[in-house]
Amino acid sequence: MNKTTRIGIVVALLVVVGVTMALKQKTKETSRSGDQPQALASSESRPAGTQTGQDSAATKGLPRLVDLGATKCIPCKKMAPILEELKKDFAGRLQVDFIDVWENPKAGDEYHIKLIPTQIFFDASGKELFRHEGFFSREDILAKWKELGVDLTGKPAASIERATPVTADTRAKDSICFMCDGDVSPKSRVLVKGQAEQVILCSPHCYFIYHSSLKEPAKAEAITSVTDAASGNLIPATTATYLYGLDPKGRPTVAAFADKDAAAKEQQKSPGNMLNWEGLRTKELATRCGFCDRAVYPEDACTVKVAESTQTYGCCVMCGLGVAARLQKDIEMEAKDALTSDAIKVQTLNGSVASLEPKTAVAWAGGKKKEDGTWASTGCFKQAFFVNEANLRAWLEKQPTATGRMVTIGQALTAKMKMTPAQIAGACKLGECK
Ligand SMILES: [Zn+2]
Ligand SMILES: [Zn+2]
Repeated sequence: MNKTTRIGIVVALLVVVGVTMALKQKTKETSRSGDQPQALASSESRPAGTQTGQDSAATKGLPRLVDLGATKCIPCKKMAPILEELKKDFAGRLQVDFIDVWENPKAGDEYHIKLIPTQIFFDASGKELFRHEGFFSREDILAKWKELGVDLTGKPAASIERATPVTADTRAKDSICFMCDGDVSPKSRVLVKGQAEQVILCSPHCYFIYHSSLKEPAKAEAITSVTDAASGNLIPATTATYLYGLDPKGRPTVAAFADKDAAAKEQQKSPGNMLNWEGLRTKELATRCGFCDRAVYPEDACTVKVAESTQTYGCCVMCGLGVAARLQKDIEMEAKDALTSDAIKVQTLNGSVASLEPKTAVAWAGGKKKEDGTWASTGCFKQAFFVNEANLRAWLEKQPTATGRMVTIGQALTAKMKMTPAQIAGACKLGECK
């Protein structure tokens, strides 16, 4: 570096310092042009070290808003009551911090700010999501959090709610599957018939979902009939031969046969494994929901990674979130948009949504509105995620009998985290769900 350059730098620094001091002075004296943000001199010797204060929020798992300003700068002064209000209104949901950078100039360097006031938005893991320079109104701050996919309200968004179906379900009771609500075809129906109870299911797979929700499944097995694919007659489930194949998408298919030879003949046309009841049961119960323990095909499930190593499944998206509650661990979940199959990824931290991809993703909480105005879930088959609200609306148009409401994925997770261990243990077990 030659002498002229060095003098140049010194002069430039002096000018910067001079301008900053003048600006600070000006703010102290004037109040009229005070709405302009203040320029902040950036120091060349940035102190090394951690970003103090950022760690405490991360351990609490709350999203955090940091406002860097000064008590004597006019727009900063206007921010003060807004910050106080946010602190009060969103206690336990949002951490709000104010840092006076004139009293604590190091902070300005640590957060690399150029102007005051500057508001920085951090997610629950401490990752910076957004920053804004200058005055920022309460409405704008809340809108920004929403846009960033961070839910602070704790209340249902309720922008979409359907308490009564658009079209009533007029199907006959015995043509509706007890588990999935789908149509029961006479070619594949399963009947569980005891002395008092009678349960009709659309397929052996739905039977095993039912089976895995029972306290005493052995009792149900003994009274279960499946439909013989050859004759269409009901036959005892435990005596049938099953042809376990795959559909073009790789999802298992199950056909029952009274006669082993008939099963073998069918096997020539559509390949698959021949299984007896025990073999079918083992296969069907091999994959279970990590939350409710129901049998599930991985093709139908969302995947849930726990602590970067173990992987489990959620039989529905709500169950996927429920894994975080059941194990009391952070999860990484991947689900599909119910309309387009686009991927939706959720990461949790200490029971809150730490990241959501895409940030616009929303959940549909399928449910029935009770007389007291609260909602009761209508079960795993009625829950869905969407990459955005528009997809949810488009899906709803195709589901005239669906009832429920839109919630944020944060709200859906919160609902699961509020469950007691006893409630979780009984989750989706028949007769205990309520
Ligand atoms: Zn079904
Ligand atoms: Zn489940």
